[in-house]
Amino acid sequence: MLPYFPPGYPDELLYSLLARFHRHVGETSPKRTLDVLFGNRSVRAGVLLQGHLQALSERLPPHRELTPGRLLADFTLYPYLTAFQPADVRLAVRDALFLGHAEWVTVRLGLAASRVQGATGLRYCPACRSDMLNLYGELYWRRDHQLPGVAVCPDHGVRLQDSTVCPGTIGQHSFIAADEDNCPKVSSDVQDDVSIPWMVVKRCARLLRSPPAPMSLREWGAHYHNELRQRGFGKGDDRIDQRRLSADFASWSGEPEMGGTENWLAAMARKHRKAFHPLEHVLLGLFLDAHAPVAENAPFGLGPWPCRNPLSEHYGQPVVQLAGTHQEEGKLIGQFSCSCGYVFSLAAVPGSKPRILDLGPLFRQRLRQLVAEGAGLRATARALGVDPGTIRRHAERLGLDAPWAPLKSRPHVPRSPRAACPQPPPPDPVPRRDWPGLDGQLCGALRAESERIKTLSPPIRASATVLQRQFGRRDWLASRLSKLPMTACALAEEAESVEQFRLRRIVWAAEELRRRNLPLKPWRLRRLAGLPEQASSQVEAALEAYEGL
Ligand SMILES: [Zn+2]
Ligand SMILES: [Zn+2]
Repeated sequence: MLPYFPPGYPDELLYSLLARFHRHVGETSPKRTLDVLFGNRSVRAGVLLQGHLQALSERLPPHRELTPGRLLADFTLYPYLTAFQPADVRLAVRDALFLGHAEWVTVRLGLAASRVQGATGLRYCPACRSDMLNLYGELYWRRDHQLPGVAVCPDHGVRLQDSTVCPGTIGQHSFIAADEDNCPKVSSDVQDDVSIPWMVVKRCARLLRSPPAPMSLREWGAHYHNELRQRGFGKGDDRIDQRRLSADFASWSGEPEMGGTENWLAAMARKHRKAFHPLEHVLLGLFLDAHAPVAENAPFGLGPWPCRNPLSEHYGQPVVQLAGTHQEEGKLIGQFSCSCGYVFSLAAVPGSKPRILDLGPLFRQRLRQLVAEGAGLRATARALGVDPGTIRRHAERLGLDAPWAPLKSRPHVPRSPRAACPQPPPPDPVPRRDWPGLDGQLCGALRAESERIKTLSPPIRASATVLQRQFGRRDWLASRLSKLPMTACALAEEAESVEQFRLRRIVWAAEELRRRNLPLKPWRLRRLAGLPEQASSQVEAALEAYEGL
């Protein structure tokens, strides 16, 4: 029984705890430490997983209650690495780690052959490094800094650094503790391009603490199949539109399209024949979260829909109701009407363009007014947001005394009793693209996205690039801003500069320090907010304001 064993730090790796033990007791021989800890000199030191936990647990001070199960769940990556494995695999892996080697386990979990590359060295976060030295006076290896495939700190959103400790190269029979030499000091400035990896690492870190209930491969396959179909990725009766999934995933992740159907994403959308890496589950899970399910019985999406009438005060606001549906040439057509009198129809087909059925009383009233004021044809068309042909037709229909030439090549309609009957007005021509309508929608979506991003903790910079990410290709919106004045204005107002972001991070850091019961000192705020040694005068002034609080 060991008389001393160091207390574990928050989210410390078992490898780190054992390494600190080795250092604290002043032992020089790694083999002797293995003997003391495991009663066995040939045990291998594992970073992600550790074997022989039963033997270790029996030697630890009993009052610490470090059972093999607790060591496994709280100090290794077992909960994350087995999060998406069936119950029988979880049990087999657990038993193997209690009694024997961890190497067999990485093969059993498919990690040895995985496309997701593990880190070569142990990693650390430059910002956590400072916190650790301040709080504990020593460094330690954190579990959630060693997650394969994601090198971002879940707390600080900064890129992790590779330490000089590579367990593969130093021999696998020694535990090396983190220290100020193998984790050298580097500056950690705010970085803009880690919003997706940060989201990913936070989800992975959550799996370490609370993994989902076990499901079989078949159940995971069915789960993703259903979730994708609910989000409109279905094709035919029971298939998945792989091409659209691939394109949408690429635009969401900002990574190039994987192409073909022989990639992990396409395989995850089919029946699962093998287990996937937890990182792949996390990526697909986040992608699904970013896409709201389209209700089966709502072929036009969920209403109310934004008003498309540029003359109305509530233009762009979600006030339009579905007035009815009918079939036309095998397509489902919905008729939408707004309280301002604007009526349009839309086919339940992706990318379908709206067809205006009635421009509404506001249009007619304004047209009368402009004609009475003697406005020209093109000026009138511009003011009312329609083409000149539409103006001509409506002016004629309303019997207005317009100064411009009447419509040409109109067929002569002989007066007959039938012609005297009131006929429904002919529909307006379909506009090439309803820019004002789109402008209203995009403007609302952009402001909502900005609001959402600005509530995230730890904060992410709501840069113009991040705000535009939801609209697909990076330059899609930028090249069309001249046609979307409201959206351009919203983008200019909502996009955050580096300085604005730093100021917001200071406020967040202050709240965070209060939450952790740490004194509010400018140097502490600077470190937690990831600010450089010398920021702009405005940022420095904001930091100074906390001095003496
Ligand atoms: Zn950190
Ligand atoms: Zn309206």
